[in-house]
Amino acid sequence: MARHREAVCRLCRREGQKLFLKGLRCFTEKCAIEKRNFVPGQHGQSRRPKIAGYGLQLREKQKVKRTYGLLERQFRAYFHKAEKAKGPTGENLIVMLERRLDNVVNRTGFASSRAQARQFVLHGHVSVNGKKVNIPSYLVAVGEEITLKPKMHQNTMVLEARNVAQSQNTVPWLEIDRDNFKARVVAMPKRENIQTPAFNEQLIVELYSK
Ligand code: SF4
Repeated sequence: MARHREAVCRLCRREGQKLFLKGLRCFTEKCAIEKRNFVPGQHGQSRRPKIAGYGLQLREKQKVKRTYGLLERQFRAYFHKAEKAKGPTGENLIVMLERRLDNVVNRTGFASSRAQARQFVLHGHVSVNGKKVNIPSYLVAVGEEITLKPKMHQNTMVLEARNVAQSQNTVPWLEIDRDNFKARVVAMPKRENIQTPAFNEQLIVELYSK
């Protein structure tokens, strides 16, 4: 499947905020947003242009799409599903993205970024209710238990990610057992549970409603 190949820090710089795409580095002073928070490219250091209307809507869509590591076609498909579901479309969209298995593995703290979590899932290191699931877009449901395969329990990347995650906020809709590398989905995520990065999904609804 096609993936985004551009240097990921450029994506954060383009959006002017941390999208946490690069794992542990995002929490250090090496983060490109800390060092060079201006738009990449030749004229990037001139003042960040003021945007409004369509530009603002487009940037917000790009931000969400890039945060969850999706391509345009996949993102649109989520949007159409969100439109058909009951409730506000924007909220449905964010909640659905949050339920993706790669995102959940990242939220548990067993992977330091969604990209790394995606690799773990694709390589068969993640199980749902005891069965291997190697589909990053799998949507978790209430009651499901997500576990990391035992051979990953001593993996340096996993241990480093877990150490950083210990000091971070808990995820209200997941019951995480970091000692045993497992988590249970105890509720559907609520929009207010999803604070980082900050999104304004209403702008995406407006963009796609044109
Ligand atoms: Fe790079 Fe992470 Fe900083 Fe974004 S948040 S600029 S991905 S280090």
